Amino acid sequence: MDNQKLWHKFLDTIKPQVSSANFKTFFSKTKINQENDKIILSTPSAFIEETLKKRHLPLIQQIFDDILGKKVKIEFLISGENGQSKKKEEDDFFSPITIQSSYSLNPKYTLENFVVGPSNNVAFAAAQAVVQNPGTSYNPLFVYGGTGVGKTHLMLAIGNAIFKKKPSVNIIYCSSEKFMNDYVAAIQNHRMIDLRNKYRSAQILLIDDVQFFSGREGTQEEFFHTFNELQSKNSQMIITSDRSPHEIAKLEDRLRSRFAGGLMVDIQPPDFDTRVAILKAKCTEWGSLLPEDTLRLIASSTESSIRELEGRLMQILQILKAQNLEPSSENIALYLKEPQKSLNLNHKQVISAICSYFDLSLKDLTGPKRQKELVLPRHITMYILAEELGMTVEKIGQLLGGRDHTTVMHGRDRIKKQLAKDREIQRLFMEIKNYFQTI
Ligand code: ADP
Ligand code: MG
Repeated sequence: MDNQKLWHKFLDTIKPQVSSANFKTFFSKTKINQENDKIILSTPSAFIEETLKKRHLPLIQQIFDDILGKKVKIEFLISGENGQSKKKEEDDFFSPITIQSSYSLNPKYTLENFVVGPSNNVAFAAAQAVVQNPGTSYNPLFVYGGTGVGKTHLMLAIGNAIFKKKPSVNIIYCSSEKFMNDYVAAIQNHRMIDLRNKYRSAQILLIDDVQFFSGREGTQEEFFHTFNELQSKNSQMIITSDRSPHEIAKLEDRLRSRFAGGLMVDIQPPDFDTRVAILKAKCTEWGSLLPEDTLRLIASSTESSIRELEGRLMQILQILKAQNLEPSSENIALYLKEPQKSLNLNHKQVISAICSYFDLSLKDLTGPKRQKELVLPRHITMYILAEELGMTVEKIGQLLGGRDHTTVMHGRDRIKKQLAKDREIQRLFMEIKNYFQTI
């Protein structure tokens, strides 16, 4: 049976057995290839692959076995959004590297527009030193710190500054996820040499959010060799992470010691004066000036993340403009008093997305049963409604089957704690957020 026929037969069989949202999200853009007794499912993203593996593999297996009348092996491959973009990605991926340089670096991030304060001045000085003498003293430069404090900005600023000095330099920027996906694709397509040619020819390699290498043994092994080769050629590496190498779980010791073997600098959440300075700089950049006292007010509303600070400023500017309001402290204080939302969904959409993500009915989610499979989604719902939609615990309790507000507080806090340290929960959360974007 050819691929297409087999796949259609498969889709016809599975369609009535999964919800239509699931069918659309997880199967409609997936394709297959047969190789002897193997069926390779090509999915558009890591998120879809993981979900298929976790939630649908037994059913997928059974259907293929039934159709083909024998036991087949199921494998997965991430191939990009559709055939065409897959082709394009592969072409880009394996094309000669000379054009790698500038175009993948967002020129918006520069050293000039990076506001320096006590929380980031050491990292900034290190960045300047690397720009002066790449590949010599500080190799790798390892920058770590919480979300939204400016790691990616600083890293890309280094890349852009080096590019400006010498446009012929081969600079590669990639998220650790992209490196992982390239590695998996190279194995599946027997194109390891191309992968090596690509990354090992970098003169400047920027790897973002390396904490996601955690637990990925193959990727770590490959990166270890890439690292050694680049270091021996004095190619500069800049690595970012949300935590120090010592705090990354399931990371090989030899890689940990490589990461820590150059210069490690951390970026702390900005202090109040730096937050004000950042807001000033953003206002100037966006051409909308606000009085100093209002900037101080906004700066005092968010402590940790510059991304959040920026988002808040942008929303305030939009609201002032849309409602034609004076940029006064009173008006801005009113806005800041409202619970802050970081998610663009209402509570009904959140609840229904959680149900469909975990394949639960509303009754399961809001009902009294307390199996593990129900409790985690329930707690996650509590957390999202409270933290991202700013709802009160009382209201959340009502929505979730009339639960007491202390139960909601308990669920919310549990997830909050786990999110701070448990990588699996962090992963799951990212997946759910991705899923929210697909609905
Ligand atoms: P991270 O990678 O640490 O999560 P980013 O580098 O993406 O954070 O920064 C989040 C946002 O905050 C970006 O828009 C970035 O330009 C801005 N930002 C962060 N630090 C600074 C800074 N020191 N000066 C100006 N903007 C900053
Ligand atoms: Mg980042």
